Amino acid sequence: MHVRELTNLPTPDFTFDPGVPGACVTGVRPYREGTFRLNSERVSGRFIVHNYGHGGAGISLSWGCAAKVKDIVRQFLTSSPETEVAVLGAGVMGLTAATRLLELGLKVKIFAARKPVDTTSFKAGGQWAVSVVETAMNQQDLKAIIKTSYTTFKDSIGKGFGVHERPNYCPKPAEGLDMVLDLLPGLLPARERLTRLPFQNHTQPGFLYQTLLVEPPVFLPRLQRDLETRGVTIVTKTFATKADILAAVPNKIIVNCTGMGAKKLWNDTKLVGVRGYLAMLPAQPALQYLYSRNGYLFPRSDHVVIGGTPDWNKEDEDLNPAECKKLVRLIAAAFGQAAPVPMPVNHIDHPCNRRLVDPRLSVSD
Ligand SMILES: Cc1cc2nc3c(=O)[nH]c(=O)nc-3n(C[C@H](O)[C@H](O)[C@H](O)COP(=O)(O)OP(=O)(O)OC[C@H]3O[C@@H](n4cnc5c(N)ncnc54)[C@H](O)[C@@H]3O)c2cc1C
Repeated sequence: MHVRELTNLPTPDFTFDPGVPGACVTGVRPYREGTFRLNSERVSGRFIVHNYGHGGAGISLSWGCAAKVKDIVRQFLTSSPETEVAVLGAGVMGLTAATRLLELGLKVKIFAARKPVDTTSFKAGGQWAVSVVETAMNQQDLKAIIKTSYTTFKDSIGKGFGVHERPNYCPKPAEGLDMVLDLLPGLLPARERLTRLPFQNHTQPGFLYQTLLVEPPVFLPRLQRDLETRGVTIVTKTFATKADILAAVPNKIIVNCTGMGAKKLWNDTKLVGVRGYLAMLPAQPALQYLYSRNGYLFPRSDHVVIGGTPDWNKEDEDLNPAECKKLVRLIAAAFGQAAPVPMPVNHIDHPCNRRLVDPRLSVSD
């Protein structure tokens, strides 16, 4: 492999005040054992299409899953004259599915407890990578989902969707990107080996990937605006049970994009909450790279986002400023900007050392 040495890139400013409103964020990844759910079933005369359980890769897989939802519904329409569809959920899965369903000429209505701005999707860091998700599914389907997702995001660069192509520097191989390089050679630019990462206080070799950064606070409102312009309404509604949905939603076709909510609504015991904290530092436009090591640093246009914690089997969204501070110190230490911090036991890189931390993934992937 070609090895090259680069000159240093700017060092981030790690000044962080967890007391600033919005500086600490907590989200729960809807991780599903085996694979995310993307299939249909008939329930009491309704046609339900499920699209949930995408763990730490929901943004990344969204467009490909939405295309699959469209295919499933298109097939159903060949034998049923429906003209309307209900989408449950206004996160990235619900909004992208609704966008594709409009292309079938259907009238689309979204029902959701949380508006897009309050969803887990809005909180996501935004790197395009297939990480913290299981994908034990038909390989052809998986390839199609990944390819459609990546190319759709890539094609939207510069069109107001908050998508940028960015280098990601990792001290160790990034599984969530290596998986894509192996599965779909040529889709992403090749990985480069570096004699050292091009940052202050970095002396070890590392890896350079080219991937996409999707900014949820730009992407989601854009999807919402486009949908509303095309006549889609988002009705605020919380469902307690499946029966509740069937009673309140009159449509024959229902697309279920309720993320973690599906655990209770569909009694899906495979869904596991993987909580993550994010520290939101002030924006630093000079930083044009991602960095992943014992956590990650994603410089977006609104904030420099530092995250990467995976608290397995945790579903509460309580804020934890102390954890956010720890995350910042962890990355700052790597740049020589803070004293070294011992790595928490359940801490992962995103996605650099996931295998080391999540025992369930070490066997199969
Ligand atoms: C800290 C963190 C960082 C992440 N970073 C990345 C990243 O860099 N890249 C990436 O690709 N992914 C990332 N993710 C993962 C990504 O955020 C999720 O996979 C994605 O948001 C899942 O989307 P969703 O639409 O299924 O769920 P959500 O965004 O949770 O949306 C679910 C919707 O369903 C509604 N709903 C749920 N239950 C009910 C109910 N009972 N009644 C009515 N409505 C209901 C909700 O109100 C909401 O509108 C990250 C996640 C976290 C937590």
